[in-house]
Amino acid sequence: MEKVINYMEIWVKDDMEKLLKESDVCKCNKCQKDIYALALNNLKPCYVVTTKGIVMTKLSGMYQQFETDIIIEVTKAIEIVSNSPRHDK
Ligand SMILES: [Zn+2]
Repeated sequence: MEKVINYMEIWVKDDMEKLLKESDVCKCNKCQKDIYALALNNLKPCYVVTTKGIVMTKLSGMYQQFETDIIIEVTKAIEIVSNSPRHDK
């Protein structure tokens, strides 16, 4: 069965987890969701039709095209959310 998926969601999640590991900001579920949504809103979606699932996303060569933008937007989102988390510090 063919499925339409947004690669950008996978890339953002991956890079967000990596970047969060390296920084000492709040990593609670709320903040992670906020960072994720914020970054995705600032990036173009990348929809693809797939029959084999999502395992090969980083090998497709498409990731490299977007990598810099993703890192920039995720970094920005982490800064914004960690500066004003939607819960007590
Ligand atoms: Zn938090």
